[in-house]
Amino acid sequence: MAGAWETVIGLETHVQLRTVSKMFCGCSAAFGAPPNSNVCPVCLGLPGALPVPNEQALKLAVRAALGLGCTVHPRSVFARKNYFYPDLPKGYQISQFEQPLATAGSLSYLSPDRGVATATIQRLHVEEDAGKSLHDRFPKQTAIDLNRCGVPLIEVVTGPDFRSPHEARTYLLTLKQVLEYAGISDCDMEKGSLRVDANVSVRRAGETTLGTKTEVKNINSFAYVEKALTVERDRQIAVLEGGGTVAQQTMLYDSKTNSVRPQRSKEESHDYRYFPDPDLPPLVLTEEFIAEQQTLLPELPAKKRERFVEKYALSVTDAAVLTADRAVADYYEAVVHAGAEAKTAANWVMTEVLEDAKDHADGLRVAPGALANLIGLVRGGTLSHQAAKRVFAEVAERGGEPRNVAEALGVVQVADTGVLAGWVSEVLGTHTTEVTRYKQGETRLLQFFVGQVMKASRGKADPKLAQRVLEEKLAS
Ligand SMILES: [Zn+2]
Repeated sequence: MAGAWETVIGLETHVQLRTVSKMFCGCSAAFGAPPNSNVCPVCLGLPGALPVPNEQALKLAVRAALGLGCTVHPRSVFARKNYFYPDLPKGYQISQFEQPLATAGSLSYLSPDRGVATATIQRLHVEEDAGKSLHDRFPKQTAIDLNRCGVPLIEVVTGPDFRSPHEARTYLLTLKQVLEYAGISDCDMEKGSLRVDANVSVRRAGETTLGTKTEVKNINSFAYVEKALTVERDRQIAVLEGGGTVAQQTMLYDSKTNSVRPQRSKEESHDYRYFPDPDLPPLVLTEEFIAEQQTLLPELPAKKRERFVEKYALSVTDAAVLTADRAVADYYEAVVHAGAEAKTAANWVMTEVLEDAKDHADGLRVAPGALANLIGLVRGGTLSHQAAKRVFAEVAERGGEPRNVAEALGVVQVADTGVLAGWVSEVLGTHTTEVTRYKQGETRLLQFFVGQVMKASRGKADPKLAQRVLEEKLAS
């Protein structure tokens, strides 16, 4: 059914900036404080209180804009977005409207269907958050927590560029990576520091005009992004295939039932009556200020991925895994700098290291130098790969030098031909039938003998050397 239709999705993402204080006052912006404890006359909107922009928030917003390739405008304007809602004491939110901070950026991401795709960033502006209505605090009553009122946000708006719910999710994860790399936000959807609204429409494959769109809200975890958009896409297709028309409206996603329902029209505000905020002069940024933010941006994931492919001869997929998290990327490079071969180090980091990090909150537990040493022991024939994995687990758990740990565990490979010859004789002595068959030309039995020697040595024999000793003995 979905094959005859094309999905068109655009995303509006609100991201909480990582600042100590709020956007226009000195109140703490921390999450999780007792309700209504981080408030003052400014964020409560008491008469006479005046807002003062938070410089650190502006720095982070400019860095985000530059990281997303936007043009940062030297002059932008704060505007009031008016609407009535219990969690908005001022009756308006300070935002930016006609003259936003930044426009015309782009973000490349790895589309599951189209390879490297590019999303256009139409605009990025600064605004303050509203408070929170709590419906589960008291039975049949709504409570208001104004701690979030005035917390600094950026809103990142894309064009209608995504062709599937999966693409939208991939873009979102890529955006999260960029913002985390640059220290702009913790992007924790569960804590509400990254929130996404989506515009969704469908059209017959091949059509160029856009279908009527709906806005999907209330998507509050990465896991739900794809689900919510899929539900809404399928709903629209079903309406159109049934001969109906899609109404332009706001849909709320309910993760418990994995369904969408139209927002009651009472909850909607069509006309925000934006106008420039008379309490705030236009935001004027000097060239030096903008240039300085550029120098403070680290190497971003896409750049790092390209560099890893080129410098370490890794596949794009491997490079993408290694650069998904800045700490992991730095760790990988430290292992290589400590002397490990690049491809082998990549395999270790993508398997044992990430596996271990997933299960332990203390992160990357084996020091890069120790992992490089361990990789060297395998390369030199001292440890089998299997044994090295045991040593890795032991070093992660209890620390120590890989070589000492390997010796303590008794897993160092035996490369002493005299000792090996003993195991070889033992094996050949107990498998006389196979020896005769081998000598009659069934040479593929060699691997059987190697296996038996490994068994006899309880895994400690160096398999390559064991094979050589076997070949010599069988030839005589
Ligand atoms: Zn305040």
